[in-house]
Amino acid sequence: MNGAGLYIHIPFCVRKCGYCDFNSHASTGELHEAYQEALLEDLRRVREQHGPVAIDTVFIGGGTPSLFPPAWIGAILERVARDFRLEAREITMEANPGTVERHDFAGYRHAGVTRVSMGAQSFDAAELAFLERIHSPAEIVEAFRAVRAAGFDNINLDLIFALPGQTPGTWERSLAQAVALEPEHLSAYNLTFEPGTEFTRRRARGELAEMPEDLQASFLTATAARLDAAGYARYEISNFARPDRACAHNLRYWRRLPVLAAGAGAFGFDGRRRWSNVRSPQEYIRRARAGDPLEAFSEIPSAAEAMTEAVLCRLRLDEGLDADAFHAEFGSPPADAFPLTLRQSLDAALLTARGPRLTLTDAGILVSDSLFARAASEIDARFGKREVASGPNPA
Ligand code: SF4
Repeated sequence: MNGAGLYIHIPFCVRKCGYCDFNSHASTGELHEAYQEALLEDLRRVREQHGPVAIDTVFIGGGTPSLFPPAWIGAILERVARDFRLEAREITMEANPGTVERHDFAGYRHAGVTRVSMGAQSFDAAELAFLERIHSPAEIVEAFRAVRAAGFDNINLDLIFALPGQTPGTWERSLAQAVALEPEHLSAYNLTFEPGTEFTRRRARGELAEMPEDLQASFLTATAARLDAAGYARYEISNFARPDRACAHNLRYWRRLPVLAAGAGAFGFDGRRRWSNVRSPQEYIRRARAGDPLEAFSEIPSAAEAMTEAVLCRLRLDEGLDADAFHAEFGSPPADAFPLTLRQSLDAALLTARGPRLTLTDAGILVSDSLFARAASEIDARFGKREVASGPNPA
């Protein structure tokens, strides 16, 4: 492996939000110190397994990593620098507006963090209450200013739209307030109802109704137009950035480049194999202490799965799917992998070809889920029975 990103998971939150399906657990801090020790042990094992890989992006996600004090984040990054070749110019830490006042952001910066990703979600008090977030709109502004004052010049704000009953007006106001803070990056995802969440149970009981798909599409279109006018380029379906501020770590996932992983439930990918650690923080700590394996899942995707992932991930990006690179990697061009979907999508102007690059058009973005599903089923029908054909990723 010539280089990799590194994802580090901290699975604790003040409270579990009703829509959240991340590996996050409401915590009052009793496990934090033991978890920190387990993380350091995990990093030692990652180094033992993969060697002193050059790490060019680090992402400390959660959960709410800002529940950990700067000294602990510093100790984690020191371990990374000691055990790997840390060449990262982007070291992101997620933070929540309701917790940042507890810590000194200059301390996180001093510890080595270069980018803060803040879960703002909405600037509307009623929407934040609906989402069961612990912060108020005023706390987002306060937290953002604290992060900026600490010297960070690379800040992301996460926003969520398509809440039941949300109006274009409240969403436009949230977008306007987010833009007014001048973050370098904005993510805007629609609310999804994932299996096992409290929101999904409430929907099953008839207490919540999903926003109709056509309305969600109109929110997404309005979002892209609003952010484009404010100088944010859409480089991925749900992600917008100022020049040179696209998230380098997340680009690794969409480009299917290696990302090593540490932490409970953390997913890793070495270009061929993917794996994840045990999800329960208690079990993760126990295994780290006992010297037991931390991995709970491991697989090498089949040729069809790897092809499908490549199509789905790369078409999400503005840079698109390079047909020549796809052919070189899988031995078949897109025109052989999903010919019908490709031809129909080009004819319907859902996809466009710029040289060898296939990219979604604005109309294609709005129907991307069904386009991806059709491409996946075609690839599975044509290649699903073959042995693994994809070799180690050259990156
Ligand atoms: S703060 Fe984020 S990670 Fe924590 S429960 Fe809420 S949505 Fe999940």
